[in-house]
Order: sequence, then C-alpha cells, then structure tokens
Amino acid sequence: MKLTSFNVNGKETYGIALGEHVIDLVSLSKVYGEDFPPGVQEAIESGEGFLPMAAELLKRAQREGATGDHSHSMDEIEWLPPIPSVKRNIMCVGKNYREHAIEMGSEKDIPEHIMIFTKATQTVTGHKQMVPVHEGVTDELDYEGELAVVIGKKGKAIKPDEAMNHVFGFTIVNDLTARDLQKKHGQFFIGKSLDSSCPIGPYIVTKDEVGDPHKLDIRTSVNGEVRQSSSTDLMIFKIPDIISILSKGMTLEPGDIIATGTPAGVGKGFNPPRFLKAGDRVDIEVEGIGILTNQLQ
Ligand code: MG
Repeated sequence: MKLTSFNVNGKETYGIALGEHVIDLVSLSKVYGEDFPPGVQEAIESGEGFLPMAAELLKRAQREGATGDHSHSMDEIEWLPPIPSVKRNIMCVGKNYREHAIEMGSEKDIPEHIMIFTKATQTVTGHKQMVPVHEGVTDELDYEGELAVVIGKKGKAIKPDEAMNHVFGFTIVNDLTARDLQKKHGQFFIGKSLDSSCPIGPYIVTKDEVGDPHKLDIRTSVNGEVRQSSSTDLMIFKIPDIISILSKGMTLEPGDIIATGTPAGVGKGFNPPRFLKAGDRVDIEVEGIGILTNQLQ
C-alpha cells in the first residue's frame, strides 16, 4: 500500500495512492461510519491492524462503486510530506556508500562506525513543492537522493534479525545540504536543516510491497541529467544494522524516519562542483518506491 498526506479542496487529509489517483481514507471511512486515525502518524501508531482495515475499506468501497467522490487525480492535489508534522528530527546516515565517502574526501572518509546526524523537523516538505535556494545564506546547496525507512513499531535494543519487524515502510528523501555551512560550523546540523531542505515522499510504500530493500536501483537527476545512479545493495551499513545500532540505547518510535545515505554523484563530487540553482529540477527515483520531484526557486 502507498500512503500519503495531501491537501485537496482546502483540506488536509491522507489516503492511498492508486495509479494516477489518491483515495481519501478519512472521508471514505466516514461514509461507512468507521473511525479512522486522523493522519498517517496516528495510523502508524495505531498498530498492525491499520493496514488490513484500510485495505478492507478500500475493497468494500470499490466493490460498491463508492470511491468516486473520495478519489482525486494526482494533478488536483497538493502533495504534503507523507507524515506532515514529524515528531522527531529526521535521522540520517552519513557516508553510507563507499564511492560517495571517497568523493567527499578520500578512502580515509569511509566510516568505520556508522555516522549519524539529524535534520530538524521543519525541514520536511512534500513532492512537487518548491524549495528555496536560500540565496544569501548558502552558495553551495547540494542534493542527496536517499532511500528512507519509516519505523512502525516502537523498540529498544532491537537485534538485526528482528529489525525489519519494526519497519512500517519506505520512502524517498532528498537530504538537501548547504555544503559551505556543513563545513563551516563543524556539526552538520545547520547545513542540513535549512527550511524545506528535506523533500520527502511522494508516499510511504509499506514494506510488504517492497521486498528486499537492498536490491533497489536509486537514481538522481538534475534537469533530466542523471547525476547519481547506484543500488541500495552498496550501502556500507545495511538497514538491520542501522536500526540495531540506533536503538541500542535510544528507543525508536513509530513515525521515526531514517535516511539511509546517498550514493556517489552529489554536486560536490564534481570538479568543478555542480551545486543547485534557482530553476533546477531534482528527480529522485528509487525502484519500487516512486519518484520524488522538486524544483528550486
Ligand atoms: Mg545524506
């Protein structure tokens, strides 16, 4: 199932993406007098019963021809981040692809231990939303296409072989980074947390639809030119290890988002570097997950 949040007719809601349409689960559930969670965050928190309940509602509505008023063309909605108000900072793995670590410096930059930083909650923005280039703040805004994990079940000290039980699904993140600020201020936080610097979506694809998350092609294009082209099987630290290490002494919560790192081909890796400018369009495609598109302004 593909779950996302969106605005339609001036109202914020969420639902299931099906082909070129999204089905509004909130309004549809009211038709049947059912009490659905008000948002994707609450849906994830409500536990494992939610997905079968949503699937059953959709099936029933389709059988009875009742989806019509609750089905919206993807062209008529405003995309929001799948979880519009994230509760915690987006957790990000740094230098998790060998070739990317090298392009950022040298072989010495390949991490021995997992490298983790976060992006502030206000960075999230939706598919097709315009993203500011932050003129006067940074001259070196860069893209990073990444597969992101959405946690479904709370857990602490999660063992690698149990980690996938805690995953709700997957989405795509553009870990936009102001390279000059990242370098100047020592810690990554400010360079990773400019407003709207975490485009995310278009939707969360539940894990049952994804299969092995380490066998997915990942590709980033700028204005149609492919800059990053790799596979998630090249991650240095795989998803079960990331979850296990993060949760060792810190409880992971439903709705937590973990971006798993970017492959080689970021703007800073070119000589001369190729940073983003107003008008550029960035498309990030992860096989089986979707395409996240944003334009800079
Ligand atoms: Mg990154």
